[in-house]
Parts: sequence; C-alpha cells; structure tokens
Amino acid sequence: MKTKDFDVHHHPCFNAEAKGQFGRVHLPVAPKCNIKCNYCNRKYDCTNESRPGVTSKVLSPHQALAYMEKVLELEPRISVAGIAGPGDPLANPGATLETLRLIRERFPGLILCLATNGLALPAYVDDLASLSVSHVTVTINAIDPKIGSQIYAWVRDGKVVYRGERGAGLLLERQLEGVTALKEKGIMVKVNTIVVPGINEEHVIQVAEKMASLGVDLFNCIPMYPTRETPFEDIAEPDPVLISRLRDQAARYLPQMRHCTRCRADAVGLLGEDRAKELASCLRACAT
Ligand code: SF4
Ligand code: SF4
Repeated sequence: MKTKDFDVHHHPCFNAEAKGQFGRVHLPVAPKCNIKCNYCNRKYDCTNESRPGVTSKVLSPHQALAYMEKVLELEPRISVAGIAGPGDPLANPGATLETLRLIRERFPGLILCLATNGLALPAYVDDLASLSVSHVTVTINAIDPKIGSQIYAWVRDGKVVYRGERGAGLLLERQLEGVTALKEKGIMVKVNTIVVPGINEEHVIQVAEKMASLGVDLFNCIPMYPTRETPFEDIAEPDPVLISRLRDQAARYLPQMRHCTRCRADAVGLLGEDRAKELASCLRACAT
C-alpha cells in the first residue's frame, strides 16, 4: 500500500484548517514514564475512558507497523503517525525510535509526530531529525520550578529520582534545551500547557511568552482532566470561559490551538470523530 505524500500543513492538530480532511493515529508503544504528574493516573489499560494516557493495548514496534497498515486501509485520510504514550515516548526510546523508523521506511510520505514531557528530549533531537520527524509537542506546565514542584511529584533521570523544586528545575532545564534544539533543526514545535486551577492558571501566560522567545510555533492551553486516584482528583476542571480568556491572552505571544480534543494514547481518525473504540479489536488483534 502506498500513501500520499503529505506536507507539513496536513497535520490536523497544528493546522485547524486540516482537521476535517486529515486524521492522525497514535501508536501506543511507550508504556513507561520518567516523571509523575499529579494529574496523571498511570493505569492506562482502558477501552471505555476517553482521556490522555489511556489505551486498549500496548504494541511492539512491529505490531505497530502491522496496525498502521490496517488502519490506513480502513482510514486513508490519516496523514500523521504519532507516538503519545501511554507513558512518555522518550522514556521508551528503543520502542519509540524503532517504531518511527519502521513507519518512515514503509510509509515515506506520512507525517511523523511525537509528544513528550521533554525530560529526555535533548538526548534524542538528532535521532528525531534524522527520521524526518517534522512535528513535536512538548508539555510544559511551568517555567518556574516553584510552580512546577506543585505539579510534578517526581522526576527520574537515569536511576536518580528528584523531587520538589530540584526535580521541576531539572525538567524545565531539559524542556528549554530540547525545544531550542528542535527549532535549530527546523522541526515544528507545539507546546501544551495543562491548566491546573489554583496552581498555574495565570502562569500559563508567562509560559507562552517564554515559548515565543524560543521560536515555538503553536501554543495549546489544555484544561486539566480531573482523574480518579490522583493527587489532583478533587480539583475541578477549569471552565471554558477561563480557558478561552487564557487563550486570548496567550495569543499576544503565540498562535493558539483551540481545537484540541484531549486524545487517548491510541486515538485514531479525524479529530472529533475518533475511531479508537471501533478499531480497538484491530489494535488488540495486532497486539497478540
Ligand atoms: Fe502521565 Fe504523561 Fe505526566 Fe508521564 S508525562 S506522568 S504519562 S501525564
Ligand atoms: Fe491533537 Fe490534542 Fe489530540 Fe494531541 S491531544 S492529537 S494535540 S487533538
């Protein structure tokens, strides 16, 4: 099967005009994570919930390639193969890079995309560039370690676990270094900031300003999705009026993504018309 050659504007998340015509698939090959966000529940194996970080199954790189082939037969409007979890793609570098390599070889015209917390990003920017990964999303929730320390329970670098401001400071250092390196390679960068009421909601404007100074292309204020059995389970989801105001303010610095649908780690199809449930049996079949 041959796919079309897509160009950078055919990414439905980075370009709102493409969202009704082009879709994306998330290949769930990355189960481990190297940090702990206080809004994240790492019990990701789930068919019924629709939120970031959940998937019906985790695939190996070869299983992901087989799944990709089936998905493209059923949904030829897919222009993007992305890796977004269910953990952090770069905390699983072997599986992530091998999957990207297999997809790039088999489907040279597809857009490759990755979403990361950024902790391991500086170490892998060259690999991503050499695989022609054209779009990367980095989730950056704070540019002040004092605020970051309220969002991240811990950050693990190799075998060392850091907590508090030290952990948040290390994460921030790597995020800034990683974003700078991506832009030096000409890769499109979107920054996601999860808005957590009472913790970073006004601070997100400073995040946007800083990201603009690094040459980031797009900013995505995402309302936190309150998840059971997490330290933030009792914080209410920010209301749409707040999010809209924050986006308007952040728009002084960067173009805003306003159409994010907070997808699962195995999302597939057009944004807003997700087919993950419908294709769950296909995903499970490829996982065995
Ligand atoms: Fe969860 Fe992603 Fe945070 Fe890791 S980086 S703890 S997978 S939300
Ligand atoms: Fe796109 Fe948002 Fe879904 Fe990521 S979570 S694939 S940015 S719509």
